[in-house]
Amino acid sequence: MSKEILHKELVIIGSGPAGLTAAIYAARADLKPLVIHGPQPGGQLTITTEVENYPGFAKGIQGPELMQEFEEQARRFGTEFLVASITKADLGKRPFTIESEDHVIKAETLIIASGASAKWLGIPGEAPAPEGLGGLGVSACATCDGFFFKGKPIVVVGGGDTAMEEATFLTRYASKVTVVHRRGSLRASKIMQEKAQKNEKIEFIWNTDVKEILGTPETGVTGVRLFNNQTNVESTFACEGVFIAIGHKPNTDAFKDWLEMDDVGYLKTAGRSMSTNIPGVFACGDAQDSLYRQAVTAAGTGCMAAIDAERFLDNLPVEMPTGEEITMEGERVMPNHDIVIMPDGEVMPNKGDEGGAPASGD
Ligand code: NDP
Repeated sequence: MSKEILHKELVIIGSGPAGLTAAIYAARADLKPLVIHGPQPGGQLTITTEVENYPGFAKGIQGPELMQEFEEQARRFGTEFLVASITKADLGKRPFTIESEDHVIKAETLIIASGASAKWLGIPGEAPAPEGLGGLGVSACATCDGFFFKGKPIVVVGGGDTAMEEATFLTRYASKVTVVHRRGSLRASKIMQEKAQKNEKIEFIWNTDVKEILGTPETGVTGVRLFNNQTNVESTFACEGVFIAIGHKPNTDAFKDWLEMDDVGYLKTAGRSMSTNIPGVFACGDAQDSLYRQAVTAAGTGCMAAIDAERFLDNLPVEMPTGEEITMEGERVMPNHDIVIMPDGEVMPNKGDEGGAPASGD
């Protein structure tokens, strides 16, 4: 089956707070953005419960409801949406090309707001069934799967805010929640630590690594094999569910051949802008921010990326990494300035280059 080809002025990859804020600003600037919903439409807030720190909601708001509001606001100004998983990108020339299984999407400017996904320990028993016990008692999303653990003992792995939030949430269902953390102190914020530590259903095992998740497809999870990294003592601990809550990894693999990123995969942006190393490609939210990673900061950087994209389109021509120049009209002036490729693909001699300026087509 041939792929559907789309051509848009601005494509935004990701529909979390960063992507949808970019869409609201870009749509209001008449850039007619196309937002690509990835595998987790609405982003990480759609798999959380109450959000208490998003300004404007004094009584708090449920994560999925907040993201619904974002999406409606973006739609109100003409944002279009497409559900697709981007697997391939060619950012070597404009329009940039991104591909999913069913679509080839050409974008004059691109905002990458693809967010981050839960990290895994990489231990035996963790992989999705049938290889491991994933889905049979192993999960990385308490809100999605907590319901299945009514009256059961659960282990939560990690020491950050995610682990505290997951552990606290799971006490609604579990008979007991044991947080296993690899160090002797938590990374989580004071308020989240205190909330978890005050909860009678939560216990902590410190300085301990989880080495294996035990169980069979027939029994589901029956326990974990633990290793105390201070005493070097190994033990088994009985539980019926394991929630991995050790942080997130940015969803940027599709861009690794094109965009500068750090060792973890966070996209690098220049100075106070959201510009990547490729002119016309911008990054925002958790795909770019390794430091703050909050819904409100993601929304802020989404706004910045949309303004940057708008200014970029207003200030063409720009030089691409290939040495080509792209004019306002979408013509490509070759690096030696002797040929211009028109937006429809027609190749023309560059008559307007006497003074060194790129041809404008008029
Ligand atoms: P963090 O990176 O903050 O914490 C990850 C935790 O997992 C750390 O305790 C870390 O241990 C542990 N860890 C990491 N890798 C491993 C491993 N391989 N084996 C064992 N343990 C491991 O991630 P979070 O997802 O918790 O938080 C990310 C950001 O999101 C933070 O800024 C946080 O404040 C925010 N957040 C806010 C929430 C809220 O306000 N409601 C809810 C959730 C997250 P160590 O401490 O030793 O490094």
